[in-house]
Parts: sequence; structure tokens; C-alpha cells
Amino acid sequence: MDYQGVLEEIARDVAPLIGSGEPAAYIPALADVDPKRFGMAVADLDGNVYGVGDWRTPFSAQSITKVFTLALVLAHGGDSVWEHVGREPSGNPFNSLVQLEYENGIPRNPFINAGALVVTDRLQTWTGDASSELLEFLRRESGNPELAFNAEVAGSESEHGDRNAALAHFMASYGNIANPVPALLDHYFWQCSIETSCADLALAARFLARHGLLADGSRLLTRSEAKQVNAVMLTCGTYDAAGEFAYRVGLPGKSGVGGGIVAVVPGQCTLCVWSPGLDERGNSVAGVAALDRFTTLTGLSVF
Ligand code: GLU
Repeated sequence: MDYQGVLEEIARDVAPLIGSGEPAAYIPALADVDPKRFGMAVADLDGNVYGVGDWRTPFSAQSITKVFTLALVLAHGGDSVWEHVGREPSGNPFNSLVQLEYENGIPRNPFINAGALVVTDRLQTWTGDASSELLEFLRRESGNPELAFNAEVAGSESEHGDRNAALAHFMASYGNIANPVPALLDHYFWQCSIETSCADLALAARFLARHGLLADGSRLLTRSEAKQVNAVMLTCGTYDAAGEFAYRVGLPGKSGVGGGIVAVVPGQCTLCVWSPGLDERGNSVAGVAALDRFTTLTGLSVF
């Protein structure tokens, strides 16, 4: 497969869309990003990485980190995480509170904020330092020891974090959070603030295309767990637009408000695209279009 040629064709095709949509504005530190950025990378199973545009420029990974936290929790505790969080699409915005009350403090899935808070809480219990565990994992699997938290973004999230605090306290009242809420929120905000490039994330996500095997050949997840993470990405990974994303792209994907999207072709490759302009559901406009083009041009999809 000529990934480089495909990426260059995609960059030409989506050029008119770059700059469409709006960068996330709810955290001031994210609102200043240049909306005209676009990058895309593909990593194959052997760790060769191909890219176009701003594919080596770091951006705020945000909710994309939720995939990696879930994988680490599954690796530590197996199925026990599913006692604390469901795996159904929510049909509600990513930071919604209402559903939690109807469902007794058990969030619908690990990729809405409430669910991610529960998963980070599990990782904190397993490791004692959830955000560092995640950062180390991403450094190792991307082969980039320079990956770091962004203190300004984490601080900004914390200052504007009343909604996440409400979600965490609410779940704690149902006994679904084990650690002190302020410490949990800190780990969650640090986790969201990690800066990575398309190349870093495509490489770090490779275990999902390699049926659970890490870069060094050791196993993080069983084949079945890797399938589970991919399945939850497909059904819940792109906010309240997962149906539309599956329809257009046909791959497991996870987006973040920083404008990045990671996608997986099991058994073949991983992709990451970044462009900060978001549609009204919170997904990168040019990013979704680029992944849509990728599956059209290559015929690679899970369907
Ligand atoms: N840090 C963000 C929040 O919790 C994550 C948002 C996202 O990328 O979906 O609000």
C-alpha cells in the first residue's frame, strides 16, 4: 500500500475544508490554536510512519487519551472496569449530567467525560499515579521521550472544570469513585493536557491494530480486549456523532476537542489526523473528511 501517495492525495482533497469549523473555545488555552493547521500520519504494523502536512506538530491530545487509559485499566484489572462503566453510546453530549442520575452513577461508556473519570479513577487505584503512567506509556509506544503535559492547558481545564468536578462528585455520591475527587480531577486534567503529534499518536495506538501487542512484541491486551476497545471506539468514540462517523469512515476512531482523531484498521495500520476546526458535535471537520477519503481511496475499513 502506497500510504505516502494516499496521504498526499487526501491532503489535496481536503484542502478546501481546512479552517472550517471552530477550534474549541471552552478552555482559553485551546482557543488560540491556528485553525489552518492540518496534519495526518499512518503507522503500519512494523512501526514505519508516513505523514503529510503538520504531522509532526504537537497538539493537545485531549479526549484521545481516553483510549489509552482504558487500555491500561483493562491491562491491569481486566473485566472489572465494566462494573463501573457501561459500553453503550450515550446519545448525549460528552459532558452531560442528566443520564448519570437515571443510571445511578454508572456512566454509559468510557469515552464520555463521566466514563473517562471513572476509568482514570481505576487507573489511579491500580498505579497510584494515573497521569504519569499514561504519559510513560505514550512515550514508550511512540518512541518519543519528549512527550509532556502542558501545564497551561491543565491549569486552564482546572479553572474551567466545574462540570467535570460536578460529574466526579456526583458519581462519588453513588460510590463509583474510589479516590479523593480533587486528586482524581488533577490526574484527569493532566491526562487531557498531553501534547502529541499525529506521528506520536499513530505509533502509540499500534497495539490496537496489532491485536494487543506492544511495539516491543510484548502483550498489553488479549486479542479479545483489543477487539473490545476497538468496538467501543467505533460505537462511542466520536461524541454524539459515532453513527455518522461509522457511516462515513467505517473504522474505530476516537476524537478530541484539540482537533485530533485516531483511527484503527485492525491487522493493517493506525492513523491520526489533526485539524483544529470542529463541527457542532466536536469532531474535526477536515479530520473526519480526511479519514473518509482514506477509507474510500484504500478500501481499508472494518466493513
Ligand atoms: N479536557 C476535556 C474535558 O474534559 C476533554 C474534552 C474532549 O476532548 O472531549 O472537558
